[in-house]
Amino acid sequence: MRLQYGDAENAFRAELVAWLAEHTPPRELLEAPRLSSAHLPDWARAWQRTLFDAGWLVPGWPPEYGGRNATPAQQMIYFEELSAREIPRTLNPQALGIIAPSIRDYGTDEQRERFVLPTLRAEIAWSLGMSEPGAGSDLASLTTKAVVDGDEFVVNGQKVWTSGAHHSDWCLCFVRTDPDAPKHKGISALIIDMTSPGIECRPFAELSEPDFTDFNEVFFTDVRVPRANLLGAMNAGWPITQGSLAHERAMLWIDYAYLVQRAVRAMQSLADRRGPDGGRLGDDAHFRDVLAGYYVDSVALMAMGYRGFSKFMAGKSNPEHSLLKLYGSETMQQCLLAAVEFLGPEALDRDVAGPRMWREGGWSVQYLRSFSGTIPGGTSEIQRNIIAERVLGLPR
Ligand SMILES: Cc1cc2nc3c(=O)[nH]c(=O)nc-3n(C[C@H](O)[C@H](O)[C@H](O)COP(=O)(O)OP(=O)(O)OC[C@H]3O[C@@H](n4cnc5c(N)ncnc54)[C@H](O)[C@@H]3O)c2cc1C
Repeated sequence: MRLQYGDAENAFRAELVAWLAEHTPPRELLEAPRLSSAHLPDWARAWQRTLFDAGWLVPGWPPEYGGRNATPAQQMIYFEELSAREIPRTLNPQALGIIAPSIRDYGTDEQRERFVLPTLRAEIAWSLGMSEPGAGSDLASLTTKAVVDGDEFVVNGQKVWTSGAHHSDWCLCFVRTDPDAPKHKGISALIIDMTSPGIECRPFAELSEPDFTDFNEVFFTDVRVPRANLLGAMNAGWPITQGSLAHERAMLWIDYAYLVQRAVRAMQSLADRRGPDGGRLGDDAHFRDVLAGYYVDSVALMAMGYRGFSKFMAGKSNPEHSLLKLYGSETMQQCLLAAVEFLGPEALDRDVAGPRMWREGGWSVQYLRSFSGTIPGGTSEIQRNIIAERVLGLPR
């Protein structure tokens, strides 16, 4: 299938670009240090609300949720334009990308009314309670348990890596409600008020950005949750963990593709600098080889993304998702490592202009931070397993 933009797509792009030019917050706000992925400063709430009111927050959603029923091709244009301009549509990505669509798709009318619109309008912030010390890649092994007691669940257990938990108002938390069922069939999803007695968040520092504390251990001790906060049916939480993101998943590659492009452009900008041996990097044959190689990777990534998207539009299965996640996150990491090695000790200098892909920090911080891309949403090893089994047909 050929991917071509028609008049409707071109008009959509023009309208979006003109709107962004007029409304995007100043760069110093967009790039200001952040406290966590659930901390919403006033400007970020206002920006998300502005997007929502204009129908630009979730353009693929129907108008009753502030969308404009944008077609998949228009949504791709939307994500491309935002990525190219490095404009975040929210500072609480787990809420917008995972939790709001899950409640929209699996929630009751009352839950939708109570949670979806306030989330889209940035009135409430969320964390996602999936991983546990003994359940990450093998999420179905989770052991945090919830027992029914009258009109409530009583929750006990521990989550870990819970991004932004200490700043979140609510947590979409996956718990075991039937310990005797096969492990995928005894899991339920609960919407938990993070101010409930018995919840303790223990934030822990990250190696790469000492001032940005996103990860938490979250302990639940006899936490009482109304039964009305069960999302979906009892013991039917597993499909929710698999996400209600069919459309957005087909767009996730765009982020990686643009991050890799940005890393390559930033590396290109090092050409005039002197390497540790005093020579100009742009004159170094090895630097030129490596940079050209990553440039080719960035173009290949984009081409592979469009191919996967065309297949998605044609209703065909597109295993490109795993290929793109693996290739994109690892290429970015390798490109950043190469730049760090060429710069030598200067890579530690925060003032050497780097790609600024993650808020702040020089090249070495950007490199360390890139490891986060190869872990969530299925680690690189898990992606390789998927490719081996589902694309190459190797035995499980
Ligand atoms: C930036 C970031 C944000 C995150 N935010 C959240 C969040 O908000 N909420 C949340 O619940 N979790 C979050 N996580 C956690 C994330 O989902 C887990 O780290 C991830 O699922 C991997 O689980 P694990 O860390 O327990 O590693 P494990 O699953 O214990 O894996 C350890 C190692 O073994 C490998 N491995 C595991 N199984 C296999 C296999 N079958 N075959 C081959 N190799 C295997 C893995 O690839 C990895 O290298 C976040 C993680 C990161 C990095």
